[in-house]
Amino acid sequence: MTDTPANAIVIVGTGLSGYTLAREFRKLDTDTPLVLITADDGRSYSKPMLSNGLAKGKSADELAQADVAAMEENLNARILTHTRVEALDTAAGQVQTDQGAVPYDRLVLAWGADPIRIPFGGDGMDALYQVNDLTDYGRYRQRLGSARRVAVVGAGLIGCEFANDLINGGFEVDVVAPTDTVLPGLLPEEASEAVRRGLEEAGVRFHLNRAVTTVEHAGEGVRLGLDDGDVLEADLGVAAVGLQPRTGLASEAGLETNRGICVNQTLETSHPGIYALGDCAEVCGHVLPYVMPLMAAARALARTLSGTPTPVHYGSMPVTVKTPACPVAVCPPPANSDGNWDVSRDGNSVRALFRGPDSQLLGFAVTGDYASEKQSLSKEVPAILPA
Ligand SMILES: Cc1cc2nc3c(=O)[nH]c(=O)nc-3n(C[C@H](O)[C@H](O)[C@H](O)COP(=O)(O)OP(=O)(O)OC[C@H]3O[C@@H](n4cnc5c(N)ncnc54)[C@H](O)[C@@H]3O)c2cc1C
Repeated sequence: MTDTPANAIVIVGTGLSGYTLAREFRKLDTDTPLVLITADDGRSYSKPMLSNGLAKGKSADELAQADVAAMEENLNARILTHTRVEALDTAAGQVQTDQGAVPYDRLVLAWGADPIRIPFGGDGMDALYQVNDLTDYGRYRQRLGSARRVAVVGAGLIGCEFANDLINGGFEVDVVAPTDTVLPGLLPEEASEAVRRGLEEAGVRFHLNRAVTTVEHAGEGVRLGLDDGDVLEADLGVAAVGLQPRTGLASEAGLETNRGICVNQTLETSHPGIYALGDCAEVCGHVLPYVMPLMAAARALARTLSGTPTPVHYGSMPVTVKTPACPVAVCPPPANSDGNWDVSRDGNSVRALFRGPDSQLLGFAVTGDYASEKQSLSKEVPAILPA
């Protein structure tokens, strides 16, 4: 595109990563041209609200905090909306978009992750909603307007949060998942059971150890076929089966990728002058698709881009699961850690502490009344990525 400056820092993505980085950078440098490119409409919003906005009565427009004109003014930046990056031309120092080429001096990839789409059989895949941005949320809210019963596919963090939000919003909710617990991989069994019970007591019906095989249209609604022959009918389905960092374009351009786009502790990819953060990035082997890590990354990268190379520091990174039916905070121990869970329980309040051989606290999961211990426990857990 002819009117974008050649000496700009170009950020691809206007989610929390792209906008937080731009905001942090402008605190340190008010002059260097900033260009943001986004496939969406560039409205600023907080993505975690997508899975608890319904019970709060928030429409997509109400979740939007600022439109693109306000963001351009606040950030003193050019924002190219509805513009999709299709290739990185690292030799020429430009990104190819569906609206033309955009040159960069330095490039930041903040383009997020794709929801995993399992190709179930049947003709109803389009009736299965995936809610990963404000536009998705707008469509989902519109469809919910005439719905009573919702089927959620997946009992991970996002699936459980949607289930809780929907039940609080007055809907009938069925959750189907092939696992025998909820939040598998994130919580030890006792904590996971507490969350399941809390959600069941609130009215959610779980169908665990069952896989969806087909999704068919059924009138205005949807019919899910399960692997045990059961059939589940609902007015709409919501699929929440995980996210996959967007690595394709980076890998085609020769950047090193693994689970995410590989970056070092200064958030630089294998190609000098190209950086990545947020849901698309794998920082020194860590893929942490949550708000706290991306905020830390944005602050560090802003300093690096403004002339002070700054490694990102990840302290302990507890995650709060937004299931008010049974509040949960979890700080998973590092993969393959040596140690044991020590669990105490009082009803749906579970305190599970993972200690290493030297009794050092390496991780925890707390539910119910114990969830309030998150802050104090987090201080005891070692940093994920020390400075
Ligand atoms: C429903 C839900 C609830 C969540 N709740 C929590 C929570 O409670 N706590 C927590 O810590 N985390 C939560 N998360 C995770 C957290 O919201 C994300 O980690 C974070 O928002 C990711 O931000 P991002 O900017 O990296 O990616 P995104 O927000 O996905 O932004 C990606 C941007 O890149 C753009 N883009 C993508 N591809 C292209 C392209 N080719 N060309 C141009 N632009 C492109 C998109 O248009 C978008 O602007 C939740 C996630 C979801 C889905």
